[in-house]
Amino acid sequence: MSSNQQNRIYLSPPHMSGNEQKYINEAFETNWIAPLGPNVDAFERELAAYVGAKGAAAVSSGTAAIHLALRLLNVQQGDKVFCSSLTFIASANPILYQGAEPVFIDSEPDTWNMSPLALERAMEAAKREGKLPKAVVVVNLYGQSAKMDEILAICDHYQVPVVEDAAESLGSTYKGKKSGTFGKFGIYSFNGNKIITTSGGGMLVSDDVEALQKARFLATQARDPAPHYQHSQMGYNYRMSNIVAGIGRAQLEVLDERVRARRAIFDRYVQALGEIDGIHFMPELEGTMSNRWLTTLTIDQQALGVTPMDIINALAEENIEARPVWKPLHLQPVFDGVTYYPHQEGWSVSDELFANGICLPSGSSMTIEEQNRVIDVFVKTIKR
Ligand SMILES: *Cc1c(COP(=O)(O)O)cnc(C)c1O
Repeated sequence: MSSNQQNRIYLSPPHMSGNEQKYINEAFETNWIAPLGPNVDAFERELAAYVGAKGAAAVSSGTAAIHLALRLLNVQQGDKVFCSSLTFIASANPILYQGAEPVFIDSEPDTWNMSPLALERAMEAAKREGKLPKAVVVVNLYGQSAKMDEILAICDHYQVPVVEDAAESLGSTYKGKKSGTFGKFGIYSFNGNKIITTSGGGMLVSDDVEALQKARFLATQARDPAPHYQHSQMGYNYRMSNIVAGIGRAQLEVLDERVRARRAIFDRYVQALGEIDGIHFMPELEGTMSNRWLTTLTIDQQALGVTPMDIINALAEENIEARPVWKPLHLQPVFDGVTYYPHQEGWSVSDELFANGICLPSGSSMTIEEQNRVIDVFVKTIKR
């Protein structure tokens, strides 16, 4: 068998616990095959308890959770919403769903997340124009929390609510408190590539249980309490199915194990590659614990004589999936012309991270042998 026919190593494949089938079977036996039922209620309770939020609403995706959060914050046509630039587009698409205008905020080097400096400048400018944003969407990239104290202080000062996009940071902590519980709303994703998965799904969390009740209402076509079907507002079909929620319950039971496994994978990469000049792993801010959803690093292309794509392509030849860091949203064609605030005038941190960053396979089920395959190809490529 030639090397490229070896088992494919994915970036972040699903990792089932074995207990999922039990909850799915319960759903079948009781015929709760619907976007409601005991697993949905239990998954909401269990996730809220895990992260320490007063409540949670289970929905069909993380994107749907962000959309509901913006809707609950009354984001409307023509409003501004600030959003991290270095993220997956799902953080910002719901801003467009509401007909609002995104304004993108750069990263800072310590967390790769929203720069408080850029945020402050953006707020000052918005205040001068007499039009503050209706919300700020703060992303915790690859598991690392943003500088929440600084960001919340700015947002509190201007009285702008925060939506914490914790799609990638479930299980992470910031000063001992679980990621996703810092804003008015937090959101999680259970897409197939996340640290735990339900195949697809999301969760909206908040301490405002009334708002969550409203979210459930909006997520079920905004159906008024009447025996006939009556609707006085526009709603969505965003609720999570009871089968999917069953998968989530079993996945939540092993979340802490998954965090430990991902962190161990990160540590092994650092052991193998950390001494090489020109390789810089994504930092972990003091006082925070990252779930290390993906191990990411930047390379000094001059020092190593290769580009990130050289390494990614070399890995692909060996049937290994690696990727560049997210392409910042202010560089995306769909957001052409959108206002952007770099970390400092003339210094865009997210542009640099995109140009030099690589995400390595980080699945919690990856074996040491598989990880050694990744490391071997990486080392051979930079020594060519
Ligand atoms: C995955 C992800 C989402 C969206 O989640 P879906 O469940 O796929 O809709 C949102 N934000 C970030 C940062 C993500 O990585």
